[in-house]
Amino acid sequence: MFEEKIRMFMRSQHMYKPGDKILAGISGGKDSLMLGLVMKYIVERDDVEAEFLHINFGQPGSELVEAYVKRFSKDLGIKLHVYRFKEDWGVGFPEIATVLRKNACSLCSQMLRYYLLYFGRDYDVVATAHNLDDIVSFLLYNAATGNTSYSSSLKPVLDTIIGVKKVKPFYYVPEERLADEAKKRGITPVPTGCPSEDEAPTVRIRRFLKEMEREVPGFRKNLLRTLIRIGTPTDSAPNKCERCGMPSYGRICSVCRMRDRIKKIVS
Ligand SMILES: [Zn+2]
Repeated sequence: MFEEKIRMFMRSQHMYKPGDKILAGISGGKDSLMLGLVMKYIVERDDVEAEFLHINFGQPGSELVEAYVKRFSKDLGIKLHVYRFKEDWGVGFPEIATVLRKNACSLCSQMLRYYLLYFGRDYDVVATAHNLDDIVSFLLYNAATGNTSYSSSLKPVLDTIIGVKKVKPFYYVPEERLADEAKKRGITPVPTGCPSEDEAPTVRIRRFLKEMEREVPGFRKNLLRTLIRIGTPTDSAPNKCERCGMPSYGRICSVCRMRDRIKKIVS
């Protein structure tokens, strides 16, 4: 059974221990809904607690997604926290990407990472639904653009300077397997309203990976193993941001610096 397989993987990787509190990011996409089901399964069997975090970026259609995630969490009986980006920042997606002149996709994933950890600071573990295709496409894109020193995607488990552990239970699970499992369970996710879905370079890499997998079974897992070998595992950010306390490479983290710029522009 899929849930049991993931539970065994999580235990073998020491992703949680008895008494841990886990915060899982639930975007409303099928992978995150599967993560929600896995969390429920684990809570019922092990001595752990789990809660969900949904980030509403204020993009068109985000209210529908939020309502869907609320219903999903309620059905599972798991507590949900919602962070509304637009209310807090004064600007939502994709406007903020335009204002900051950044790629909407990478900005969005940066914000997801940041806020999951920010709200996860009072938990022992934060879990994300990244699957094999997410990880390989990210690593491959980085390798192809000359960046082979990266931390979080090289390992299914990463310790952070603020004490909370970041885990990826679906590290070795291909995207189509998650889609299958979601379908079997009658999960039909709402469209996330992500405007850049088809344009991101990693999306094109994912298409390529799937094509190759059909021709060469095991293509993605083998590629992942090679990328792990050639990559330089760096520690997670070594400092704490003086302002927000989140892991940072400099004195002030990049999200706090972006906030300053947005404040100037919006006010
Ligand atoms: Zn900061």
